[in-house]
Amino acid sequence: MRITILRSLFTIAALTLISPAAVANDNTERLIAAMLGDTPVVEDLHELTDTIGGRLTGSAANRDAVAWAVAKFRQAGISVATEDFEMPYQWQEKVVYASVSGDIDFGVGVVAKPFSTSANALKAPLLDAGSGSEEDFARLGDAADGAWLLVETPVLDDAVGLDGLFAEYNDAAAIEPRAFAAGVAGVVYMSSRPRNLLFRHNAALGSRNEHPLLVMEREDAKRVMRLLRAGRNLSLTATIEVEDGYAYTATNVIGEIRGKSRPDEIVLFGAHLDSHDLGTGALDNGVNVVMLIDIARQITRLGLRPERTIRFVLWNGEEQGLVGSWQYTEQHEAELDNHIVSASFDIGSGRTTGFFTGGRPDLVSMVDDYLTAVAGLGPFHQIDVPLVGTDNFDFMIEGVPNLIANQSDANYASNYHAESDTFDKVDQQQLRLNSVIAAAVIWGFANDTARLPRQSHEEIEALIGSTDLEQQMKNFAVWDGWADGTRGRHE
Ligand SMILES: [Zn+2]
Repeated sequence: MRITILRSLFTIAALTLISPAAVANDNTERLIAAMLGDTPVVEDLHELTDTIGGRLTGSAANRDAVAWAVAKFRQAGISVATEDFEMPYQWQEKVVYASVSGDIDFGVGVVAKPFSTSANALKAPLLDAGSGSEEDFARLGDAADGAWLLVETPVLDDAVGLDGLFAEYNDAAAIEPRAFAAGVAGVVYMSSRPRNLLFRHNAALGSRNEHPLLVMEREDAKRVMRLLRAGRNLSLTATIEVEDGYAYTATNVIGEIRGKSRPDEIVLFGAHLDSHDLGTGALDNGVNVVMLIDIARQITRLGLRPERTIRFVLWNGEEQGLVGSWQYTEQHEAELDNHIVSASFDIGSGRTTGFFTGGRPDLVSMVDDYLTAVAGLGPFHQIDVPLVGTDNFDFMIEGVPNLIANQSDANYASNYHAESDTFDKVDQQQLRLNSVIAAAVIWGFANDTARLPRQSHEEIEALIGSTDLEQQMKNFAVWDGWADGTRGRHE
């Protein structure tokens, strides 16, 4: 029923939103029409999220997702390869629980932050660390030594959106080193999500973290704060059992449509297949995985042959350090000069408003040009800033032109890495329209002759020096790899 209603909406969209005069050529038009038609993209999303579920890299579900993606490309007649790579550090939460005791006793809902260490009934005084600022630590003084610190956070809902999400990473990158220097037993963040919703971001230091880190349900954390501020003495006892520490193999999935006249020129469009494991990774990032599979499927079904080779890459290990895309840049080092572009789709199902062009201003007019085919779905606006946080990153520091689809916040940030990131949060109609927009850009790159040169090490350093890239890289625990030469272009 729902599908029937949506289909008629798509027909209306096709008739009213896309100006035929703006359509670049017949094949673009055919592809756009196919994307708006009766494709299995929503059924694919249902399978990936509800059947396979959360797909933390290193889990059995993640391996199931790899097999599923391979089968999807094969069923669509698309050439598919898997590429194994080493994940340096396993981390999975097994068991976590905590309780408050002292003047008042009660249980509290918690999860561990990824890369938290284990703790066995670790009991310590629980202290109000305010927002975790320098002033808060000055106020706490020696009392922080050996204590659990509870950090208050602003609420992150749809009204706050992505800015709030980047602020959370930024704040944690300052708070955690401060807390460890003060000798804390562990850090507990008030969940920024309303009511009892839990989520998790990686420890600020990534796999180098050596302390217990928790997120506590907002309602519980607010109760604790009220009691502490009323002068009550409380302790926290937490047990965190994680499986961690060893390297293991994970797998990227690469669907390829070979170019007919310039097969050595590669245009790469990627979305990460892995997710965190509290929810089922629908907005982050199942929705964009199924979108790319569907675009590949429709190109193949229509028998369209691009001039350049299109690679549809489903990354793994993204959530735990952008590892799959980093390892791809290592494994394909010899081909990177011929990577025309590497684009990432990773901001849920809000309307695609344009692309982040990564500090390569010449990309703006190219993308503008490709988007004229779908001008009716705009307006579009490219933002020429470099962003860290998804799989464009290692291409950026290898000097390869890179893009991130910019999407309106919608409900992305509020469900990000949370138990609520599930199938029902995805805007199915907008998914269809975003797939049309993505298809126009993919087809544009795949058939153009224009190309930007790969940047040299000096040019990449200049980009870092002239933007806030260094802080962004530190916030996502990837600065060290660039600084020590294990990541990026160094010749
Ligand atoms: Zn993501």
